[in-house]
Amino acid sequence: MNTNAEIIAVASGKGGVGKSTVSSNLAIALSKSGSRVGLLDADIYGPSIPRMFGVSGQSVTSNDGKSFEPIESNGIQLMSIGFVQTNNDAMIWRGPMLSQAINQLLFQTNWNDLDYLIIDLPPGTGDAQLTISQKANLTGTILVTTPQNISLIDVEKSLIAFRKLDIEVLGLIENMSYFTDDSGKDHYIFGTGNIEDFSEKHGVELISNLPILPDLAKYSDDGRLFDEFENLPMLSEKYQDITDYLKARISDIDKTDSLETIPVVTE
Ligand code: ADP
Repeated sequence: MNTNAEIIAVASGKGGVGKSTVSSNLAIALSKSGSRVGLLDADIYGPSIPRMFGVSGQSVTSNDGKSFEPIESNGIQLMSIGFVQTNNDAMIWRGPMLSQAINQLLFQTNWNDLDYLIIDLPPGTGDAQLTISQKANLTGTILVTTPQNISLIDVEKSLIAFRKLDIEVLGLIENMSYFTDDSGKDHYIFGTGNIEDFSEKHGVELISNLPILPDLAKYSDDGRLFDEFENLPMLSEKYQDITDYLKARISDIDKTDSLETIPVVTE
């Protein structure tokens, strides 16, 4: 695996909050900005990345019988348990099996010269998620939540767990924050204010509030996210800001890291 890639895990406390959608759009935005991007679908319980990129039903290939070739879609390198197990049987994974499966997908994929690897983690803070987060040598993690307290309560658990493990929390993304009607008026269907309080309480940046976009769900289902990205300006402009923020934040982290490696000269 190319160790120079910045590895960003996208995590959530609950399922269904839009973690995979954010992971995919982040990968698309970074790729469209000229970076070489990989996307690992580590959401073993509900792998949805193949469908979002219009490559579901494809199977991984191996040139040497030991490692997997990623499946490319619009230049983005993808790996998912969905490419390994292509029938629709629900998979029952227990802790160690789950860790091992994700481990294999991460380390036995021939990622080709990546600038960024985005990992779509399973929801929650189980051992598997945390083990992988540590083993993957993450640059940091992004936490995705919806506005409701019920989602924030679980995301708080994730935040605390990542911090305990010294994993940098790069910021929060609030998904499905509001809906803009045809007259341009915003409706905060699930309420407002919780995320701002959360961000202040924990000293973690609120990177973005993303709108509810019915077309987004449709394009995801149809596997047309990449092609339609610019046709959703309310979304693509937000992702431009998100990638700008991440690039700046990561370059700060890298600078701090390299400062730490400079030996201190004492007289
Ligand atoms: P998770 O990975 O957290 O389980 P998904 O990314 O699979 O969640 O999203 C759950 C569902 O919500 C999907 O059908 C997705 O298309 C839809 N969805 C996610 N974000 C939005 C949004 N901002 N607007 C409309 N639909 C969305």
